[in-house]
Amino acid sequence: MAQSSVPLKIPATDRKRVIVIGGGFGGLNLIRKLRHRNFQVVLFDKHNYHTFQPLLYQVATAGLHPDAIGGPLRYIFHSYDDFHFRMLKVTSIDPDKKMVTTTAGDLGYDYLVIAGGARSNFFGNKDIETYSFPIKSIPDALNLRSQLLENLEQANMTQNAAERKRLLTIVLVGGGPTGVETAGALAELRKYVLPKDYPHLDLSEMKIYVADGLKRLLPQMSEKASAKAQKDLEKLGVIIRLESMVEKYDGKTLTFKTGEKIDTYTVIWSAGVTSEVFPGLKPESLEKGRILIDEQCRVLNAKDMFAIGDIALMKTQDYPKGHPGLAQVAIQMGKYVGKNLSALDAGESVKPFKYLDKGSLATIGRGKAVADLPGHLFFGGRPAWWIWLFVHINYLISFRNKLLVLANWVWNYFTFDKGNRLIIRPFVRKDEPQTKAPVVQNVPEEAEIVH
Ligand SMILES: Cc1cc2nc3c(=O)[nH]c(=O)nc-3n(C[C@H](O)[C@H](O)[C@H](O)COP(=O)(O)OP(=O)(O)OC[C@H]3O[C@@H](n4cnc5c(N)ncnc54)[C@H](O)[C@@H]3O)c2cc1C
Repeated sequence: MAQSSVPLKIPATDRKRVIVIGGGFGGLNLIRKLRHRNFQVVLFDKHNYHTFQPLLYQVATAGLHPDAIGGPLRYIFHSYDDFHFRMLKVTSIDPDKKMVTTTAGDLGYDYLVIAGGARSNFFGNKDIETYSFPIKSIPDALNLRSQLLENLEQANMTQNAAERKRLLTIVLVGGGPTGVETAGALAELRKYVLPKDYPHLDLSEMKIYVADGLKRLLPQMSEKASAKAQKDLEKLGVIIRLESMVEKYDGKTLTFKTGEKIDTYTVIWSAGVTSEVFPGLKPESLEKGRILIDEQCRVLNAKDMFAIGDIALMKTQDYPKGHPGLAQVAIQMGKYVGKNLSALDAGESVKPFKYLDKGSLATIGRGKAVADLPGHLFFGGRPAWWIWLFVHINYLISFRNKLLVLANWVWNYFTFDKGNRLIIRPFVRKDEPQTKAPVVQNVPEEAEIVH
């Protein structure tokens, strides 16, 4: 990606300028708190929308359409005074010159807040990165949806039994909430929706696996939650492979370290994340791919710079290895910095950040979920499912999103259908010479960016 040395044009102001990198959970909540404060706020994001990532898997499995979980950033902040959004990619940061370099130009700051989130971690395995499907962004989710539906179309046509089996096999690598929720949604698609769409396809041949290197699913939740999630998934016909580390994947066959091989065109990768660390930051400000911050969210060894959310690493007594990669952490850090920036600017001291753990949730399907709530409270089944529904609707970004998601869910619930089943990428049969566009595997990062 070319580096720019052209100044980026932003209207002049006599206010101090805060640049925010990332309009995710952290950036959004920070900017809301900065409203009516005496700062100019400039938001950079490579997308022109906020993504509600916890529901991406529902876009990938045809339960929701993408607009239901995205909010245009210009719309969200259109009534804010001295707020400026620029859609671009940040390529580096110069902490000494207090300058951010982007694909569209350079801009200086008085304060910088880095809220760039995380990206999928392929642990350096290039083949897995090329051939597997992450669910980290809306383009990822739509690409995966097309892949799943396209494979069904091809399975319905092929005369070759081995090819049909490979087309109908899906492996989710990573038994965290994304793997569990996606597997549950796929199993329900197979049970309720696909028999109507493909009456002549033998769907007992469609296999859905969840594989993880650890001993249990949902390792960040209680053992009760793990056991219940596993039981619910197995009831839906999902095959669980625990203590199974992936060794390689060539786009056709997934190989585990145990030697087991699974023939599949679809490996969904949710086995870990790492963060988007920007070139230019000093090595003393970084640890294990995250940005080290103090208890006021200030980046260590950098002046007037903050980091929040998934990208930030704050070591506290309660969280010696940093906070978990959860939306609530990003939301609370964003609100904290937004609320305290004026005081910090005036040189006043502020109370350290304290994360309030509101619990963890994961849903498996209709009326099936697990919830660990504060005070060691555990709920499973329908009560947990209602909590899950309420929490997700509540945290969606706008009234429009809440309405769209609710309408889709009510429709899906009563019709046992999932209506968003369009294949929206060029369709090329895998057994034909590829004279048109190649079948898209992983969407390249550049495909998401408009310069
Ligand atoms: C599939 C999935 C399911 C999840 N489910 C849950 C859940 O159920 N519960 C939960 O609490 N958490 C969940 N999470 C985690 C949660 O979404 C994250 O913890 C949260 O989004 C972190 O917020 P953030 O502000 O740090 O980053 P993000 O929300 O990721 O936002 C980062 C923003 O930075 C932008 N950006 C990144 N790099 C650049 C760049 N170079 N230039 C310009 N812009 C850039 C991105 O476009 C993005 O808008 C899930 C995550 C995923 C992927």
